[in-house]
Amino acid sequence: MLLLSSSTRLLGRGKTLLRDPFKRICVDMSSSSPSGKRLRVLVDMDGVLADFEGGFLKKYRARYPEDPHITLDDRRGFWVSTQYGQLRSDLCNKAISIWESKDFFIELEPLPGGVEAVKEMAKMDNTDVFICTSPIQHYNHCPYEKYAWVEKHFGHDFLERVILTRDKTVITGDLLIDDKPDILGVEPKPTWEHILFTACHNKHLPLSPPQRRLLSWSDDWRAVLDSKRQ
Ligand SMILES: [Mg+2]
Repeated sequence: MLLLSSSTRLLGRGKTLLRDPFKRICVDMSSSSPSGKRLRVLVDMDGVLADFEGGFLKKYRARYPEDPHITLDDRRGFWVSTQYGQLRSDLCNKAISIWESKDFFIELEPLPGGVEAVKEMAKMDNTDVFICTSPIQHYNHCPYEKYAWVEKHFGHDFLERVILTRDKTVITGDLLIDDKPDILGVEPKPTWEHILFTACHNKHLPLSPPQRRLLSWSDDWRAVLDSKRQ
């Protein structure tokens, strides 16, 4: 009786361990193209799926109501803290204090259409999508909350598709959709094409061809994916 009971428990545990990887292998094989070529899309999180800028401004104004702020229309440059530091030197650290606080990342609102687009990508034939995001160095809350945000908006299974890295150049893919204009790291020639996702801080930047933009998730992201399938 005792033996049967522990065997059942072990079997149950074994099933749990095996279930997810097995399912993924099945899904991948059933949707492979004859050539086996699959498109790998890396999608950034802050400023592409999660409204970092809007969430920052709201919490900054609530915490520092007496201090000057920069409207989203007036945002220039990727680093929020740099522009706040230029406005007044002490505001650089005040800005940083906002995203280093507990609940900053988990409470970010999704940007319109992003979650839906990525879910749709994940269901497309011959397509692998990953959320590729750089956590801040102050790691007390951010990495945990990034996983929690993905689980909250995409569901538990999507945690398999999260890549946390401070250097996106070492990740291989066909496309990287990201709002940061310059994505640099140790790899001088990343495999992916960077599609610049338009955000308040980069919308005024001229593109140097052949660099491409995605204006928002209402823009034709399917055509961008198709252009890499040729
Ligand atoms: Mg970003």
